[in-house]
Amino acid sequence: MKKIFIMNLGTTSFKFKLYHVQGENMDVRASGEIESVGAAESRWQYTNCDGKNATGACPVPNHGAGFTLFLEILQKDGLLTSLQDLNAVGYKAVHGGSLSGTRIVDDELIAEMERVTPLAPAHNPIYLSAMKDIRENYPDLVQIARFETSFHATIPDYRTTYGVPYEWREKFGIRKYGFHGSSHEYIAGAMKKLQPEARRVITCHLGGSSSICAILDGKSIATTLGATVQSGLFHNNRVGDFEPFCLPMLMEKLDCDLEEVLNILSKKSGLLGLSGVSNDLRLVLEAADAGNEHAQLAVDTLIDNILGYIGMYTAYLGGLDALVFTGGIGLNSDVVRSRVCEKLAYMGLSLDAAANSGRTDGCISTPDSKVSVWRLKTDEESIVAQNVCQMLQ
Ligand code: AMP
Repeated sequence: MKKIFIMNLGTTSFKFKLYHVQGENMDVRASGEIESVGAAESRWQYTNCDGKNATGACPVPNHGAGFTLFLEILQKDGLLTSLQDLNAVGYKAVHGGSLSGTRIVDDELIAEMERVTPLAPAHNPIYLSAMKDIRENYPDLVQIARFETSFHATIPDYRTTYGVPYEWREKFGIRKYGFHGSSHEYIAGAMKKLQPEARRVITCHLGGSSSICAILDGKSIATTLGATVQSGLFHNNRVGDFEPFCLPMLMEKLDCDLEEVLNILSKKSGLLGLSGVSNDLRLVLEAADAGNEHAQLAVDTLIDNILGYIGMYTAYLGGLDALVFTGGIGLNSDVVRSRVCEKLAYMGLSLDAAANSGRTDGCISTPDSKVSVWRLKTDEESIVAQNVCQMLQ
């Protein structure tokens, strides 16, 4: 039996799950999360497999310190006897540049993640800092990264290439990588079990950060995120696809430098920027219902974005057998699902209104629908844990 600690890190957040893995069985024995990492006081919360809960507040200066905090809690709770009891830590790491798949955290991996940090400035530094910290404080502990780009390694070159000088791809790695790989991979695996005959699947991971993936025979053949996590669909507060030639004009009109424009595009755009209301779709929908035209435009644009990619990907797949919604918006917004699906009636797709407004995971299309539609909760950490375990073996 292997004990694996999986980390999912955000700028100021730390989430973990402790897995016990035995053969095919993967048990989550404990999970926890820290908010406001780096603040004067961070709040943490811990739950174990018996339902025991604990919460607390203390300074957690960085993500490495977050690991130490939970290591101590797990030892006190009896789920780990010592550090040696832990077989590995695994990261849902974001951008590994030319390194994809599951890799041991070593000097080569750290150097490549540092090289591509300009392409993932909000994510790579956090992971790098945790990896370095844990390496220094626990040198014997095996650290393994599963990159979010991994599932998309099967996308053909002609679909990961921008129309730029070829040397940029070769020399600088300017190409589409795709992200949210663990989520799309989890859904692909779930669909293999739920509807084995569905060869052509589109997964819509819609949340704070959104992407759509075309999956043929379980493999990714297209996805909306590109060289960075800023592209494709527009996100809660990130721009999505945008015209780079607007940048000089924006710098001039806003009287600011490139960094400031990029800051607006990555933090104050998307649903938030367009609606002027919120980055939370629930509030934008409420405002649209109350007659706010900008909020209505934001919702309409989001639906149109999703629909456009579904159309494109249906063409790539040569038809569509199953459409899956996941992520905070995909799972919880019956409005988004129904508005997208009503436009797909031309495919013979028909949503079951009652199932769509329910809260249960599963099929939400009518029995006679030519394309099945699903609402499925994703489980990204389990994909990381599975891959970490395979690597250990
Ligand atoms: P995620 O990043 O996948 O956790 O998704 C978080 C986002 O899901 C939030 O920012 C909300 O915009 C959205 N969300 C959650 N619940 C709902 C809901 N009932 N209706 C619409 N959007 C929702």
